[in-house]
Amino acid sequence: MKTHTQLCHILHALDGQSYKAYKRITGTYTFQNFTLHIDHVQADPFAAPSRLRVQIPQSIAAYPPETHAHPSRNNALRTYLARQFSTAARTRSRRNRGSGKSGLIEIDTPCQQILERTCLFVDDDQVEARFAVGLPADGRRVRGLDAATMLCDDVPAIIEAALMYASNDPEEIRCYTASCEDADHLRAWLPAQHLVAFVANGSILPRRSGVDDRPLENAMPFQAPPELEVTATVPNAGPITGMGIPAGVTLIVGGGFHGKSTLLKALERGVYNHIPGDGRELVVTDASAVKIRAEDGRSVAGVDISSFISDLPCGRDTVDFYTENASGSTSQAANIVEALELSARLLLVDEDTAATNFMIRDIRMRQLIQAEPITPFIDRVRPLFADCGISTILVMGGTGDYFAVADTVIAMENYHPRQVTREARALAHTYSPPAEVEPNTFETAPRIPDPDTFNPSDHTRHRRDRIRVTGPKSLLVGRDPIDLSAIAQLIDPSQTRALAAALLHLRRTLMDGHRSLAESVTQLMQEIERNGLDTLTDHPCGDLASFRPQDLAAALNRHRPLHVTHGSQ
Ligand code: ADP
Ligand code: MG
Repeated sequence: MKTHTQLCHILHALDGQSYKAYKRITGTYTFQNFTLHIDHVQADPFAAPSRLRVQIPQSIAAYPPETHAHPSRNNALRTYLARQFSTAARTRSRRNRGSGKSGLIEIDTPCQQILERTCLFVDDDQVEARFAVGLPADGRRVRGLDAATMLCDDVPAIIEAALMYASNDPEEIRCYTASCEDADHLRAWLPAQHLVAFVANGSILPRRSGVDDRPLENAMPFQAPPELEVTATVPNAGPITGMGIPAGVTLIVGGGFHGKSTLLKALERGVYNHIPGDGRELVVTDASAVKIRAEDGRSVAGVDISSFISDLPCGRDTVDFYTENASGSTSQAANIVEALELSARLLLVDEDTAATNFMIRDIRMRQLIQAEPITPFIDRVRPLFADCGISTILVMGGTGDYFAVADTVIAMENYHPRQVTREARALAHTYSPPAEVEPNTFETAPRIPDPDTFNPSDHTRHRRDRIRVTGPKSLLVGRDPIDLSAIAQLIDPSQTRALAAALLHLRRTLMDGHRSLAESVTQLMQEIERNGLDTLTDHPCGDLASFRPQDLAAALNRHRPLHVTHGSQ
């Protein structure tokens, strides 16, 4: 192993040489307080930056066990340290060091949510950070002296400032770990209370803008209606009071612009924990909750949507339903059935993004049009809970039809929730599902993906398998794009990268023509649980983040050429 002084000498010697000469620095170097791995050196200054890792022994980093021993705390500490690194790197990263990405020092920057990320690890032995460096160049000539400053001065300075326990504020760290632990505790507490979500009093739900996930300034803090107020005791913050949303069918109603969608969005994100100061630290939702929306144009592969849609024109099969171009209603039906296939226990629906003809069908329309293939969701939402234990939270400002099927009705008024279940019930005509509606168990035959219809070969001469990430929410499998833009709970580009790696891994190891889609996804998630996200890649990657099984399945389900066979129920 070489020393940092040797690295410095090598870089000085490389000054002025062609960029390719940088390849020589690939390897491992010892510094005073840490080990530096230069894993991958970029081919030119415009290519994706070089990949580096540092490992600091715990004897030097000195994080007390209570900051990282428990998984919740560990995850929070990792997020905190990644943010610290990111801030320190920004002050040291100088883009005036030449062409292309020259001078860049960057770590995968965490968002408002606390996801498990491969950019930072903490255990009993060490702290490891993975980051990217743009090795500096003038045109395509090595700027060796600048490179030496970056790797031998700037990187150590960033590490000293960001990653040592002694240089961080213990109170801030405690704040992260405590809040993450409390949120996990709260989420685990929900089922025993027959709740599917909880919003603590004082939470700040609205965001600055559609593209800025930080809390809106001067927002009205959340205050639970007295009838729905519950108190939980969490390990760090003690007793917490807020609104508990009971299992069952919950309706959020209210005038336009009164905060209905804002509440539902916060619940969508409640499957994740949030960083301190976000405002949603104590907004938690059943971890399996899936946002359901209409998504016309998506493809559907062999999904049994017959509980919602049957007798399509021209006798099209809805038990083994295929389409390259789903309608609003068929896509929404498929989204529900696919969520149930991955054991979602809570569905979240907003009228803003739902297909009206899928949601309701009023008396007059039922009388006028008899040949309607759709059994609207309103006819299914109760059996879904009564027979299968699947809850639904619905935003519905435009129709009172759902009053009759709701267990709980919450009205949003000037951003304040009010419980109006009794009033709504009084207005509801007693609801009885039309006679022709068949009871349904929503149980469908397992779908087994045909591996030949998922072909990640890149069609070049080498026929390498790979799945390219073409945007924050888009992938390319071979020549086939997968559009992930409608998957609401996929929130970070690092999750998209991880999904690309996961799909490839799934195709290679688990998609064998026998395992069902749900089985393979579940097995892959167990493997990740055991071995971490690194199990997905053959080299250490610093830009992946954890995702949910429902979202992995959602990606696979949107692969257009996909075909499935059906196992027995
Ligand atoms: P709705 O779905 O009822 O039409 P939205 O949830 O879209 O309404 O909210 C409308 C606007 O009000 C949004 O711009 C949102 O940011 C803002 N808003 C929501 N909740 C609050 C709050 N508690 N305090 C301040 N502004 C809020
Ligand atoms: Mg809305």
